Amino acid sequence: MGREGELVTQVAAIVQRVEALAQDLDLSAVRDWKAAAPGRRAVGFMPIAVPRELIHAAGMLPVGILGGGDRLEIIRGDAYFQSYICHIPRSTIELALSGRLDALDGMLFPSICDVIRNLSGMWEMLFPGRYVHYVDLPQNFDPATGGRFWRHELEILCDDFRALSGALLDEAALRASIAVYNDNRAAIRDLYARRSREPWRYPTSEVYQVLRAGMVLPPEEHTALVRDYTRAAGDDPDRRDQDRSRVILVGMFCEQPPLGLLLTLERAGCWIVDDDLLLGLRWLIDDVPVEGDPLENLTRAFLDRHARTASMYEPEGHRGSALVAAVRDHRADGVIFCAPSFCDPALLDQPMLVAALDAAGIPHTQFKYSEDTGQFAVIREQAGTFSDSIRLWSEA
Ligand code: SF4
Repeated sequence: MGREGELVTQVAAIVQRVEALAQDLDLSAVRDWKAAAPGRRAVGFMPIAVPRELIHAAGMLPVGILGGGDRLEIIRGDAYFQSYICHIPRSTIELALSGRLDALDGMLFPSICDVIRNLSGMWEMLFPGRYVHYVDLPQNFDPATGGRFWRHELEILCDDFRALSGALLDEAALRASIAVYNDNRAAIRDLYARRSREPWRYPTSEVYQVLRAGMVLPPEEHTALVRDYTRAAGDDPDRRDQDRSRVILVGMFCEQPPLGLLLTLERAGCWIVDDDLLLGLRWLIDDVPVEGDPLENLTRAFLDRHARTASMYEPEGHRGSALVAAVRDHRADGVIFCAPSFCDPALLDQPMLVAALDAAGIPHTQFKYSEDTGQFAVIREQAGTFSDSIRLWSEA
């Protein structure tokens, strides 16, 4: 087989592997990791972000829980929630009640919305013997207030993780874990930058799954996987540019869309050049200093260098100007608002973002999904029409 054939095979093998990981609702990869050495523990977390460095520094595996997607029948989960909220809490409860999350020795629930807050309380009642912590993310970014608060929260988590793992979790371990996650974020940043430049080489239907593997793999292994994919896909000679619209997706930071939806957008003529999928993996937008006080470094990174999204406080009340800047930076032709049904943070933010795009003359369209959406015909028509129309406008 020639080099070109090897590259195609390598990309296909990586995509096959990450697809299998994404579809594995039983967390087999986590179970295998735990079984490989005695005493290993894993801690789950809901979207969006928790300080994974602390879990890793305690020798445990951080595991992102993203609901049941479109492969889980909800039998008991519906009984715990009203019908007019998003889908991810009920499928997460279903996963837990069916024993699929038994590999987890604890769960973290970051404060991104009332649904996650309620899910945290429900977890405590349903699983009284398991470690549960509601991670109260600060919404004040003054070091003397929000910084002090966040540092205290990190110290509580360190104490909890020492007790859960039996590890020392000292400053040296924290510095080593910060370096590991810096490397992981750098690999992801590189992949995202390349996709923005050449989206035909890195279709989002693949990139998303490559990133998603980071929810269950140790970060060192995930970093190597991201780099292998970036290299192989970037060198694949069969990947060529096509006449498509460049779009940014907004609203997918928590409940994830079914893969079919991303494929549908691509088939409808869109190159996705930026998105807010799996934002927790990219929560800190650049390197955290390794030298010095590690908890202070993590605190300052959270205050000053976190991703901007609907569930975090914005001085303007919304991040319209940041979205307009992202459109310019990524040379996007338009924005697709694509949020889970009943997602309060995403949908409350949307009218302000729409107003900012309108003021800047940037085309946009919007639709909603659920993680178990199965029919994409309407979305394909809508996205296809949007893509065609913005290409016509740009030519005009
Ligand atoms: S999808 Fe939206 S409303 Fe539902 S849990 Fe996530 S952030 Fe909260």
